[in-house]
Amino acid sequence: MFRTIEEHVRKQVAPAALRSEFRQYEFDNSRRFCQLIFCVSIAVWLIFDLIVSYLGNQGFTWLSGLFIALMCSLTVVLGFTRKSHHFDVLNLLFIAVITLGMRLVIDGIPIALRPVWLVLGTSTVLYSVSVLPVRRWSFFCAMAITWAMLNPFYGTNIDLDDLEAAMLISYALFLSGLVIYSYLRIRQAKLHNFYMSKVLLDQAYVDVLTDIPNRRSFMAKAERQLQAAPAGQYLAMIDIDNFKKVNDRFGHDIGDEVLKRVAVHIKASMGGYEFARLGGEEFVVFFKELDQEGVERQVGGLCKRVREDGGEYPVTISIGLARVDSGDTLTMALVKADQALYEAKHSGKDRFVMWTARLAENS
Ligand code: GH3
Ligand code: MG
Ligand code: MG
Repeated sequence: MFRTIEEHVRKQVAPAALRSEFRQYEFDNSRRFCQLIFCVSIAVWLIFDLIVSYLGNQGFTWLSGLFIALMCSLTVVLGFTRKSHHFDVLNLLFIAVITLGMRLVIDGIPIALRPVWLVLGTSTVLYSVSVLPVRRWSFFCAMAITWAMLNPFYGTNIDLDDLEAAMLISYALFLSGLVIYSYLRIRQAKLHNFYMSKVLLDQAYVDVLTDIPNRRSFMAKAERQLQAAPAGQYLAMIDIDNFKKVNDRFGHDIGDEVLKRVAVHIKASMGGYEFARLGGEEFVVFFKELDQEGVERQVGGLCKRVREDGGEYPVTISIGLARVDSGDTLTMALVKADQALYEAKHSGKDRFVMWTARLAENS
């Protein structure tokens, strides 16, 4: 089954909205890692700068202080960055500053040593960028900035027709190719996994027929809402009246269409609340932070909406309402709503009934 779904996902192109959700999700999950990369980069640059400054007898200049201040400020800004597309720009700024800082430090060492350090610097920066959650345009801009700033042919004594030049160019091509390949492959694999999880979650939490949340989804979400809210929330259990007759008279397919229509009405009128198809022709709604009057208005409106649908196969619905008292679990509230629904059915259908202790005694 996993293989079948995976094959299906592989054939699909991830929609733009899903890609953008993925980028944000990835950035949210790796913000700390990005901060760590920024901090380690600053530390490495500082150590290198100190070595060149003191062993090279150049002293620690105000320029070094300025670069440190700039990089630290960008790291602080990263701490407040919440949008992934802002990080794309911030990362480019950081790379521009650190590669310029590297270039200035490397320009302070003997000319013969510079090409090696420039290539080492480039490899380090490019590798770091390839594991960061940046968009493609930002990644390629970062590559361009890095090679431009740390170009091993600029400010060094390598001639283009030297053997060393040929080796450097080969290494640069190999390094760039490898980094681009791993960046694109890792992103593709991560996007694929994200897409897979979404498809599997949808299949686990969305009702296939009516395309609204299913029982599993409702129990998880309503339970969480119930824990966060004080006592006094309301629950509605909805059941289509005489649905068996619809199936018997018009067939199962028409029955399915009726189920879908009722689901559309529920979705349209209960948009702000948790709702789901519990199973069969039963639905449920959890009203958070709505008083009894408001709840009754909502369910009364839903009954009217379904009754006056005007479709080819008219149906009505009955609704059992229950107040979730303190100490009640979701399951207890569902039992109460079911008792109220039973009463609604036995007092004529096409109506709603609020649960009272009397109903519990009768059942
Ligand atoms: P009441 O007014 O008392 O609720 O009567 P009812 O006929 O609606 O209730 P009953 O529980 O006897 O019938 C429910 C029917 O719903 C039985 C079952 O065949 C049908 N059903 C359950 N799930 C589906 C489904 O997915 N599609 C269709 N078409 N029918 C379904
Ligand atoms: Mg039923
Ligand atoms: Mg029914």
